[in-house]
Amino acid sequence: MKGRVIKSTGSWYTVQVEEKMIQARLKGKFKQDELKLTNPIAVGDWVGLDLEEGQATGVIREIFPRENYVIRKSTRKQHFSHIIASNLDQAMLVITMKNPRTSLGFIDRFLVSTESFRIPAILVVNKMDLMEGEDAQDWLQDIHEIYEPLGYPVVEVSALENQQLKDLLIPHLRGKSTLISGHSGVGKSTLLNRLIPDARQETKEISGYSSKGVHTTTFAEMFFLQEGGDLIDTPGIKEFGILEIEEYELSHYFPEMRVHLGECKYNNCQHVNEPGCKILKQLEEGYIHPYRYESYVNILNEEDSHR
Ligand code: GDP
Repeated sequence: MKGRVIKSTGSWYTVQVEEKMIQARLKGKFKQDELKLTNPIAVGDWVGLDLEEGQATGVIREIFPRENYVIRKSTRKQHFSHIIASNLDQAMLVITMKNPRTSLGFIDRFLVSTESFRIPAILVVNKMDLMEGEDAQDWLQDIHEIYEPLGYPVVEVSALENQQLKDLLIPHLRGKSTLISGHSGVGKSTLLNRLIPDARQETKEISGYSSKGVHTTTFAEMFFLQEGGDLIDTPGIKEFGILEIEEYELSHYFPEMRVHLGECKYNNCQHVNEPGCKILKQLEEGYIHPYRYESYVNILNEEDSHR
């Protein structure tokens, strides 16, 4: 049988096989060397499984190649990563101007991550009902002006308004597998509960050791939309990692810089102060937004300090 993993609790996995949910576990060793993962299977994985003799539970025999995945560095084991979810159509970042305020820097880090994983991203501005005053208007205008021209859709909603979710958000989600992300308090659980009434989001901060002795603090879970498609919630995960990249590669994950690949005088140009830099010229001429460039430099410096 072939199915998709919709939930993982460390040693048992819930696998959807057509309309049925089967509790399954792994037997045997899975080769994960090239990724160095602390967890062999993630929500979103397509797996091959058999039913255990005379039982309703299953045994996972095979993991089909992943189209893409999101990982973050393991906090416990250096050089290892934790796979958060796989086979995604897009990632949705929920942002708010107030309670809490999402910074442009945070949005840019998220977008660099999703670009590095080659996953399309959308920005969902929640709590539109709280948007009042000039400050709010300025923030919202920046979001539209900066991100839409780069190809990231910006959707404005209030999670408290079911009709808005139906009219404005569902069209972006229908038929797709979407990872939800965002700061704590931006309304992810509220959105999930409204979009999928039986999701019953509780806070799932599970801490402990799974059967393989791997420390796990959070588990992703997939929920199905009535309209078709699914949402993957990743409780407790604020930021994903950025795949191991060389400094000169960071600009590949900024679409407005990527289009000028190879146009600098030096092919390992970091776009900071090198002569003949096309990116600095674009910035000067106003084709690259100064806030985006600021994020670029900040990420470059952070990555540098991690080496
Ligand atoms: P999460 O941490 O991202 O899952 O955020 P929650 O869904 O727990 O929401 C945090 C708080 O924001 C709760 O008190 C929600 O009722 C509130 N909230 C969520 N969405 C909205 C919204 O669109 N408008 C307003 N005014 N409050 C909201």
